[in-house]
Amino acid sequence: MAEGEHVSAALRRIAPSRTNAMTDRAFALRAGGRDVISLSVGEPDFATPDHVKAAVVAALAANDTRYTAVAGTQALREAATLHFARDLGLVVPSSQVIVSAGGKQAIFHALLATLDPGDEVLIPAPWWVSYPQIVRFAGAEVVALPTTPATGYRVAPDQLAAAITPRTRWLLLNSPGNPTGATYPAADLAALADVLRRHPQVLVLSDDIYAPLRYTPGAHATMAVVAPDLAPRVLTVSGVSKSHAMTGFRIGVAAGPAWLIDAMGKLQSHNSGNACSIAQAAAVAAFTGPQDFLTDWRDRFRARRDRVVAAINALPGLSTPVPDGAFYCMIDATPLIDRFGDDEALAMHLLDHGVAVVAASAFGGHNGFRISFAADDAILDCAIARIAKALS
Ligand code: GLU
Repeated sequence: MAEGEHVSAALRRIAPSRTNAMTDRAFALRAGGRDVISLSVGEPDFATPDHVKAAVVAALAANDTRYTAVAGTQALREAATLHFARDLGLVVPSSQVIVSAGGKQAIFHALLATLDPGDEVLIPAPWWVSYPQIVRFAGAEVVALPTTPATGYRVAPDQLAAAITPRTRWLLLNSPGNPTGATYPAADLAALADVLRRHPQVLVLSDDIYAPLRYTPGAHATMAVVAPDLAPRVLTVSGVSKSHAMTGFRIGVAAGPAWLIDAMGKLQSHNSGNACSIAQAAAVAAFTGPQDFLTDWRDRFRARRDRVVAAINALPGLSTPVPDGAFYCMIDATPLIDRFGDDEALAMHLLDHGVAVVAASAFGGHNGFRISFAADDAILDCAIARIAKALS
């Protein structure tokens, strides 16, 4: 680095988001005239619903363009309580809800507000790319809980029990999970809760952003509802990005104990302050408006999942389990890795052939890559044909 250039020790501990980096790379190649299909970032390709767009126009017409309360407008905090109760079965007062600029910001604030150097955070691996980076930025230690397709990528209670130490501060759960689709039934969460009861120092971050995107029968299960006695130490994170095709609006919501919501609000007051006022109005419409289209969207995602899983498993050297939720496939490419050196080189090779994917190592996995199947059939078919050609 040149003289005068300096970044903090905290920043040196982390790497840029590899999902965002690959997507930016795809944008740049496209801007340069290259034909690149991006299956790297996870966002629905469906159009944001019309009633949400109408709420944006109405909010602008009403000059709803000023600061709001840091924790969000009262209308959105109340709409979020409706969402938590209706979609997750979680009943909370609006005073225990905070609105942030995306679920990512809520998670960032929760971890930064509670972690000290030397604290340990348990994260089932493969994990969403930002979880360990945020933990490291906070100066805490990442403790991986490795999972495999054989157990549906779910953590077992004895595995959890063996990993907890007096320094364990958080367990991060993400169900349905990114990047594996891991989905915890209520019985599995109840078994984890039995372990957690013995360790009152452990908080639980339940990232339920993909709750509407479950392909298994039965209601969504979440820790604060399955184990209500633990709710005083559970933060439940959700939002409108994935469910309502509103990734660009950057609205996330989190519900938890008052002390934690207050702590997150304190940090947020010095960071973004409130989330965008117009986006908050849009999120009110998303949570309180019609929800029936979600069934159709989920059915279409399920059909795409089945199409992609069958096509990938038909390619020599590639295999993927059937994900139970979300819209990602974690693809194993172990037989091909030696040809490329590592999975990052494989991902770059696929990019050269016109498909942006994210290497498994970005998620604490190995020897493979993640694709998002939130794209229409013609695009998915073309992407898989390019992958087949690139690997042939
Ligand atoms: N959560 C999405 C993904 O994993 C969005 C990108 C990001 O923030 O990582 O692709």
